[in-house]
Amino acid sequence: MIYISPKMRIFTFAFLGVLSLKHDAELIAAEPIESEIQEERSVTKCSSQSTKFIDKDSMVGTSASAKEFHICVNENIKIFEENHENFKDKAMVLAPFGTVALALLGKCAISLSPLEMAVSICGGWLLSDLGTGIVHFTFDVLDYTNLRWPENMRKAARIFQYHHDVPGQCTRESFWYHTRGFYLNFGVPLLVTSGILGACGYDIASCLIATTAILAPLGDYVHALSHGKHRNSFVRLLQKGGLIIAPNHHRRHHKDPEHATHYCIWNGHMNIVLDPVISTCRSVYKFFRKWCGTKPNKED
Ligand SMILES: [Zn+2]
Ligand SMILES: [Zn+2]
Repeated sequence: MIYISPKMRIFTFAFLGVLSLKHDAELIAAEPIESEIQEERSVTKCSSQSTKFIDKDSMVGTSASAKEFHICVNENIKIFEENHENFKDKAMVLAPFGTVALALLGKCAISLSPLEMAVSICGGWLLSDLGTGIVHFTFDVLDYTNLRWPENMRKAARIFQYHHDVPGQCTRESFWYHTRGFYLNFGVPLLVTSGILGACGYDIASCLIATTAILAPLGDYVHALSHGKHRNSFVRLLQKGGLIIAPNHHRRHHKDPEHATHYCIWNGHMNIVLDPVISTCRSVYKFFRKWCGTKPNKED
């Protein structure tokens, strides 16, 4: 008979608990905040707002208006639903991912003390927030019209920047739409890293990275929750308690005319670290550009 340690059982329930958020949260996030509906209307009516790289299939490549891009996004969601919004696709990604993640955490739970586990998990939660901030910043400033960037990056940048025009749109997108790509592109490499660290005996680091692998890919979805009206008291409690990002905190990113602060979107706690770092890097970079006599561009 397989023995599952008490710590591992706790992590199993915690992981399943996070996944179960999906059902309630999909309902909760179904209604965008009223002011964001107004913003969306103004964007979809505004055909003069140009976006340079949009293609009906890939959403990059040809010129089109913001309205056309909005249509493309909705078509992209339909294509995603047809191809990936099914039990088989979710099981094929989440079952092996969850099994490996739980095995890694279980191994750590056996060798680490409860305090070490708690510190590692807390670290993973903060690292997830910092990771979302770095990814968000990268795609917010990346010039998607610049062909030197890979197409996938330009597409992601276009979608991130489109969110500034139509923030309420994300509340209509499913849990799987928000998380699938992040689990595959970020979660899997992080799990591999965690496995290597665990094999080398660095259990605290392994636990921290495994926690990040589980939590970080949920960032975009947690962010979408901050844009919706919430009927679910559990989500409101998580937001008020600072466990996930609160609407008021994330609104500061959208209220900033340049969208130049508050990039962290998991719980927002790491903005206090990331904002000064980004601000300093911007100032130093602008100084050197000016010093060299080069005009700062969009990505500055
Ligand atoms: Zn942004
Ligand atoms: Zn947002």
